[in-house]
This record gives sequence, C-alpha cells and structure tokens, in this order.
Amino acid sequence: MMKTVSFDLFTPTQEHSILRDTVRDFVRNEVEPQALEHDIKEKFNLDLFRKVGDLGLLGLTVPQEYGGAGMDAVASVIVHEELASSDPGFALAYLAHSVLFVNNFYQNSNDFQRNKYLSKVISGQWIGAMCMTEPDAGTDVMSMKTKAEKKGDFYYITGRKTYITNGAIDSNTPGDVFLVYAKTGEKEISTFVVEKGFEGFSLGQVLKNKTGMRSSITAELVFDNCKVPSENILGKEGDSLIHMMKNLEVERLTLAAISTGIAARCIEIMIDYSNNRYAFGKPIREFGQIQRYIADSYSKYMAARSYLYYVASKIDLNKPGHRVDTDGVKLFASTVAKEIADNAMQVLGGYGYFAEAVVDRMWRSAKLIEIGGGTIEAHQKNMTKDLTRYGYKIR
Ligand SMILES: Cc1cc2nc3c(=O)[nH]c(=O)nc-3n(C[C@H](O)[C@H](O)[C@H](O)COP(=O)(O)OP(=O)(O)OC[C@H]3O[C@@H](n4cnc5c(N)ncnc54)[C@H](O)[C@@H]3O)c2cc1C
Repeated sequence: MMKTVSFDLFTPTQEHSILRDTVRDFVRNEVEPQALEHDIKEKFNLDLFRKVGDLGLLGLTVPQEYGGAGMDAVASVIVHEELASSDPGFALAYLAHSVLFVNNFYQNSNDFQRNKYLSKVISGQWIGAMCMTEPDAGTDVMSMKTKAEKKGDFYYITGRKTYITNGAIDSNTPGDVFLVYAKTGEKEISTFVVEKGFEGFSLGQVLKNKTGMRSSITAELVFDNCKVPSENILGKEGDSLIHMMKNLEVERLTLAAISTGIAARCIEIMIDYSNNRYAFGKPIREFGQIQRYIADSYSKYMAARSYLYYVASKIDLNKPGHRVDTDGVKLFASTVAKEIADNAMQVLGGYGYFAEAVVDRMWRSAKLIEIGGGTIEAHQKNMTKDLTRYGYKIR
C-alpha cells in the first residue's frame, strides 16, 4: 500500500519526506544501537560514517553534477535533526565533514580543486574538517596567529589550531583533509586545503574527556612550515571573510538542528516516562509540576523548530545574507534544548542521571551548541549590531 505523505513546514516536499524517512530508519537500525558505547568510550565510528556516505548524505548540498545529492539547507537540517535525536556527537562529526568541509569547499573551490577532492570526501573515503579556532583566538577570529607565506609555487603555513572536530579519527590518526584559515597579511585571511600527508603537518593533542558530543573526536593540529601547493588556496588571498560569512550561516543553522533533534528526543523520553512511572498511586504525568516540564518543553521546542525551518527555507547556500536569523535561531534553539534536556532529567528523577536513560547523553551534549560555531554572546553581539545599525526591518 502506498504511504500517504503530508507535507508541512518541517517536511516541505516529497524529496524531504523520503530523506527524513531514510535517515530515521538508518538512525533506528544503525546509529542508536552503537550510540551509548561510542559516547562512553569517546570513540568515533568510522565504519558507520562511511555508511552515511553510501546513503549519499556526505555531499548532501553539492550539486549532482559534482557527485552530490543536490539538496538544500532544509535537507541538511533534516539530516542533522534526525542524527542528533540519537547520537549528537555523531551528528557533530557529520556537520564538521558535510557542512564545514564539503559544503564550504564546494562553494569556494574551482573545478580543478573539485575534481581533486570532492569524490574522496563525498564517498567518506577521506574525513574532512575545518580549522578556524586557535589556542589564543576563538570568538576574536581576526586575532588568529596562523600565517601562510608564499614562496615560489608553495605556501608555508605555520601555527596551531585547536578544538577541531574530525581533527582526528582516533588517538593516533589524524583526519584526512582540512580547510585551514591562515593570515596572508595583517588583516587578510585566506583559506587553504591541507592534506594530512603534507610536509610540516602533524596531529597535536587529541582532546579527551569532553563533557558531551563524545562520539566525535576533537583535536589540536600543528602546522610547522607546512608545505601547501599554491593551487590549494580557495579563491584568492584575502577571500576567507566571504567564505566564513557564507559557511557560518549554514553552520549555525545545522547546529540549531542538532539542538532541536536533542530536544525532540528528550520530550519523547519525558512523555514515555511520565506515562509509565507511578508515584502516590498515579502516573507522574498527573502532577502539575511534571505537566509544566512537559508542556513548557513542547511549546519551546515547537517555537525553536518552526524558527529553524523558517530560516532554512530562506537560506541560499550560495549567498550569505541571513546573519540575524542564523545567529538568532542558534541562540534560541541551543538554550531551549539545554533547558529541555534539563527538564527531561528532572522528570526522570534518579534514572535520568544514568547513561542508559539517554537523557544523560542529550543533557551533556546540548551545552556544546551554546559554545561551538559561535558562543551565545557572539550571536547576541552580531545580532544587535545588525539589528541596530543597518535599518533592519523586523516586520
Ligand atoms: C567540542 C567542540 C568542537 C569544536 N569544533 C570546532 C571545529 O571543528 N573547528 C573550529 O574551528 N572550531 C571548533 N570549536 C571551537 C569553537 O567554535 C570555539 O570554542 C568558540 O568559537 C568559542 O571560542 P573560544 O573557546 O576561544 O572562547 P573565547 O572566544 O575565548 O570566549 C570565552 C568567553 O568570552 C566570551 N566573549 C568573547 N568575546 C566576547 C565579546 N566580544 N563580547 C562578549 N563576550 C565575549 C565568549 O562568549 C565566552 O563566553 C569547537 C569547540 C568545541 C568545544
């Protein structure tokens, strides 16, 4: 029998509906069974990641003529939401690869570079990452110290990057390919593609004992006069600001999708537990204080999710121009997800405090979205700047 599909804000077309069903089945059958173990052991599941490549999801936003799935920002939101509802760390590794590397690279590369790298990362043969943050430069990105100097046919990059998701695959193995931001002038940042085998590149410390997102690996990377062919610069010197502006918008959008995925799972768990847990002779859903946790969580989740899909529907991956709302939705969804995970833990009582309850994994992971890809304070600063200085129309 044909399945009846109804389209709505969250699943606007048949392609989106098929995509959501495909990823949801994959999550149920393949992601969920491994999530607890990989979170506890702080291990990245490379085999599973390559299966995401087999499903065609690693080049989701790359046009079909370049070997991708040719889908839009809404599709990317759907995939992140579904993965995060089970394993937020795996969703973060997916984001670092498919958004921070693949989408960013595709948007800003030439055909020679696309032929050289895209098939390797879209298949999952190579794992990609994006390197912006440094030990002394996070929010204040312009203060980065990593430098690239051109000599003959090569650039030589010197500096350190830190907190890089997919910077490593395990304690000893670096990721395969990196988009690296480095200064080519006092106020000029340029973007380079660096392979792990390039002379002068090495894996620094693999950063252990993360609070959440533990199935993604975070690492420091060291560039010691790292020799990069000049054909590996994206665009021209000084183009990074436009690369960053474009990519940060979809990065913030998909990070917000990780938040709504986390929130959805927490609400499902709360509902189920409140139906089945009895106290004082009745299910705990009968208590007003529990009702408040559930109802408040649901309405905030729906507000965050509606905002998310509204922004996703407006984004053009080729062109920046939605900073207020991509910052805004991440600002809102990240804090909402953290609150909802906390509500869920409260509703579950002592049981919620143990890993097998799942809420524990969601609660620890939700916090990262208030920090990574821009802190909530950075969003407040950017948004207020845009809202107050440029005659922004809010209605
Ligand atoms: C698990 C994880 C994964 C990550 N993955 C990546 C990755 O793949 N690639 C990458 O490049 N980076 C990555 N990051 C780095 C992340 O994006 C940064 O941590 C983030 O941008 C904040 O920078 P910071 O940690 O240096 O904090 P800082 O910039 O030092 O901020 C410290 C505090 O000061 C506040 N602050 C700073 N400036 C201002 C201001 N002007 N006004 C008000 N408050 C301010 C901040 O909001 C924050 O509260 C990751 C981080 C984590 C934890």
